[in-house]
Amino acid sequence: MQDFIYCGQTAHVFFGQGSISRLEEAIATVGGTRALLLSTPNQAEQAQALTRGVESIIGVFDGATMHTPVEVTDTALKHIEASEADCLVAFGGGSTIGLAKAIALRTDLPQVAVPTTYAGSEMTPILGQTENGRKTTLKSPKVLPELVIYDVDLTLGLPVGMSGTSGINAIAHAVEGLYAKDTNPVMRMLAAAGIEALAEALPTIARKADDVDARSQALYGAWLCGTVLGSVGMALHHKLCHTLGGTFDLPHAETHTVVLPHALAYNAPAIPDSIDVLRKALKNDDPAQALFVLGRAVNAPASLRELGMPEDGIDKAADQAVENAYWNPRSLERDDLRNLIARAWAGERPA
Ligand code: NAD
Repeated sequence: MQDFIYCGQTAHVFFGQGSISRLEEAIATVGGTRALLLSTPNQAEQAQALTRGVESIIGVFDGATMHTPVEVTDTALKHIEASEADCLVAFGGGSTIGLAKAIALRTDLPQVAVPTTYAGSEMTPILGQTENGRKTTLKSPKVLPELVIYDVDLTLGLPVGMSGTSGINAIAHAVEGLYAKDTNPVMRMLAAAGIEALAEALPTIARKADDVDARSQALYGAWLCGTVLGSVGMALHHKLCHTLGGTFDLPHAETHTVVLPHALAYNAPAIPDSIDVLRKALKNDDPAQALFVLGRAVNAPASLRELGMPEDGIDKAADQAVENAYWNPRSLERDDLRNLIARAWAGERPA
């Protein structure tokens, strides 16, 4: 066995149907007495409903939005000052959890995260923020939520389309975690279990959105995949999605869903051990094809074209993919990467 460094994260987890009823206990566990609940405008009504009967929640800020703009963080900070909040509860997906992290970075307030998608941000010490249209990413233990409540009931209303793409976004974290430069046996175990759980659950959710067993399995998988993302480095797939998303303003989870089978097919010759793990987790001899089929099973968009990327962007994206060299298990060949992007753009099967 190879030598490795393992650095465990310290999040405390309440997992289970109805576990949101322990919100008061969760706030007390992280040392809070006056919590500000954060949400997006979209989930404001549900957020208000959560405050009922939870005495330590002293207010709701429902202005969270995509990409964590610093202006929104500034506005939320004013609410915190005015309300003398000593704790944050982030109720929602990666956008709301991102806002809580941005506030925690500046104030050190403890966070309870209540995720309602499968993005996995609640398990990572990573924060992406935007200022003047520029997105920057940082890593700091200060932004990792102290406690996470995974309650399947809060995910039953996640629209079917978002469930599929958000779940495959989570799978992408674990796939890259398998062959990360700094991976370790513990993360590989979590990655395999997370991929298996999500790949099994997502097609069921696509057919029956309120299937509690499938939703629980997906949420469990999302937790594991998020832990992997927070613990080891990512490679080609994440780099591609980051530059494609930023350059062509493409939606986050959908872009991951389209690109993942192609990025995996590109790396496959260099990662035989990881392919073996994926064969078992996906119950398919060809994991890249299996992930492509999974995308169709959840009715996700198949092409970057559908997401709004112009065809003449393919060359630009290929140039960017080889700029600023980063670690990847297979060397970055411009022509092969151009092929990868062109197939993803057209919605073809991975090759
Ligand atoms: P999101 O948080 O942007 O949510 C999208 C929309 O869906 C929002 O309007 C939200 O209110 C709504 N929504 C969420 N859950 C719902 C539910 N159960 N029912 C109904 N509506 C619901 O989406 P996301 O995919 O969770 O997060 C994406 C963002 O998170 C991206 O900006 C991404 O960069 C970031 N992210 C960060 C990390 C990290 O480690 N820092 C990890 C993953 C994702």
